[in-house]
This record gives sequence, C-alpha cells and structure tokens, in this order.
Amino acid sequence: MAEDAIVVDESLGSETLLDLRSLSVTYQTDQGPVPAVRGVDLTVRRGEVVGVAGESGCGKSTLASTVLRLQPATATVTGEVLVSGADVITMRWGELRALRWAGASIVFQGALHALNPVQSVGAQIGEPIRIHEPGIEDSEVTARISELLQQVGLSPSRAAMYPHQLSGGQRQRVMIAMALACRPALIVADEPTTALDVMVQAQVLGVLEKLVKDLDVGMMIISHDLSVLASSCDRIVVMYAGRVVEEGPAHAVFDRALHPYTAALSAAFPRVGDPAARFAPAGLAGDPPDPTSRPPGCSFAPRCPLAIEACREAEPELREIEPGRWAACIRVGEP
Ligand code: ADP
Ligand code: MG
Repeated sequence: MAEDAIVVDESLGSETLLDLRSLSVTYQTDQGPVPAVRGVDLTVRRGEVVGVAGESGCGKSTLASTVLRLQPATATVTGEVLVSGADVITMRWGELRALRWAGASIVFQGALHALNPVQSVGAQIGEPIRIHEPGIEDSEVTARISELLQQVGLSPSRAAMYPHQLSGGQRQRVMIAMALACRPALIVADEPTTALDVMVQAQVLGVLEKLVKDLDVGMMIISHDLSVLASSCDRIVVMYAGRVVEEGPAHAVFDRALHPYTAALSAAFPRVGDPAARFAPAGLAGDPPDPTSRPPGCSFAPRCPLAIEACREAEPELREIEPGRWAACIRVGEP
C-alpha cells in the first residue's frame, strides 16, 4: 500500500467526518497523571455544526488537539479518533501530513494574536495554499485569496492590509479564511470568538454557520459560553471534568437543560438581549475540580443544588433520557 493512502473504515457512514470513540487523554506530569479527557464519544457529520461547551479546565482544548494528533508528547491517548474514517492515532506520518493540510483544520484558542504583524493578510492566507500546492500560478493564488475573503464576508481589497489595520472581528475572519485555505472537510474552532465583543461574536459565528451550509463541511465550535453556541450550532455537547455530561439539539439543551450543570451554565451566560438576563444571578459559583483530585461519584455533586447522597457514590452513566437527548445525572427523569 502507498504510504500516503488513507485507510477508510467502511463501517462508517461516509457522512461522518469526525468520530471520537471512548477517547481518553491523560497528561503525564511531575505531579503525577492528569486525566484531562475521560471516555468521550462524539461525532460531527457533514453539514453539521457541533458545539462543545464547558468551563475552563473541562478538557475542551485537549479534545480538539487530538483531532490532528497535535497533543503534546506527554499526553497518553486511548480510544479512537477517526477523521473521515481514518484512524488518526495510528496513522503514519505521511497520512497525517496530508490530513493536516486538507482533511481537517483547527483554529486554535488565542489564534487571533498569531497573525504575523509584518505580512499582509493576503500573503498569510496564500501561504498554506502555496505549500500544499507547489507550482500553483500566482494568479490562481490571488483568485483563491479573494474567494476566501469573500467567503468570510470581507472585501478582497483587504488582502493588501496588515493585521493592525483590521478590527478584532476582521482578524478573526482572516484566521477562518486561513483555516479554509486548503478546503478541509472538517473545521475545529476553539473559542473562536472569546476575545471579541458580543455583537462581533454574533457576526463571526454567523459567518461560520453559513460556511458550513455553503461549503457542506462539518464544524466543531468550542466555547465556555453556552449562549454563543445555542444560536449557531445544530447540536451541543456539554463537558464537565473531562466527560460528556449532556448532549442534544442546541436549542433544547440551552432552553431546557437536563443536567444541573448545563442549567447552571446557561444561567451564567444569558442570551444576548434577554432583558431577564440583567436580573439573573451572573456567574456560576465555585470551580470545576482539579483533574488530579476529583471528588468521588458525580464530579459536579459538590456544586450541584440537586445533589443527594447517592450522587457521591458512583459516577453517573451518560443515558438517553429522551430520543436524541443524553445526560449523565441520576436525578434526571425522576418522577
Ligand atoms: P479547556 O480547554 O476546557 O479549558 P484544557 O483541555 O485546556 O481544558 O485542560 C484540561 C485539563 O488538562 C486542565 O486541568 C489543564 O490544567 C490540564 N492540561 C492541559 N494541558 C496540559 C498539559 N500540557 N500538561 C498538563 N496538564 C494539562
Ligand atoms: Mg481551552
């Protein structure tokens, strides 16, 4: 078999672009193992926007890094990471390189500050195209840059500008254009709008949502802010202490949370323009547990208003409560 051939798992539907199966990631540190992600199952299909929500420290960025095997060498990964059916964990370097260019792309948290200040944004968008397609004509690269800028809602004339000449929202659009440059089928955006003010956040998320439908790709958007995901995603996966605690259609999860953690998270981040939000208690008291010293039983129990004795005994299974709606809480569905 040629080195760069990608082995496709025929049992998967061709429409499944990302399939994480029982994924666990543990960092080995001087202080001992840090279990950051614990047994996560997650899929993203073509044409779908999946949101991953959860407070800082819940394992979201760790999860994202495994999609292209970009986790640090100190991380031990178990389970499966399938991108378009190909197993990223065991894939050879040649295949991985091909995947990193054209199979999937990740817009990392804080990437807004990663643009080169002394190079025009057009040149920066063109760079991955030139590396991926050596020998491509300059006129073709220029045409692709114009097309990409238009796809993210910017005028092609922006290509000649430098990052400091653009607003935060425009720079974030440039980052998205760079992620699209090699036409990946799957895009992972880690906190793509966190540095932006709320109105600009809504615009950038609108751009992402439209791209998924127009280009027929799949996208995973990560945010600690559930309200941001509610309006731009098809499905939401809520993570707490490295595990999935709830999953379901975006609006159902946001408006009618099943897990008490999801309910607390949506109360902490009210929807933009909701007049009731001004009176709601802002924030969510306390912090997620340190992965090295998780409490016994349900990790959320110490902060949960509904916790009972049984919650501290065993970690609850993720159960299908209603068709398409999953939650890991023993109290959900109680009469
Ligand atoms: P999130 O993106 O949800 O904020 P992260 O995936 O960044 O969560 O982190 C999950 C947990 O893993 C945290 O407890 C964090 O401190 C720990 N962690 C992240 N990266 C490393 C690393 N390179 N080495 C050790 N621990 C790490
Ligand atoms: Mg993160």
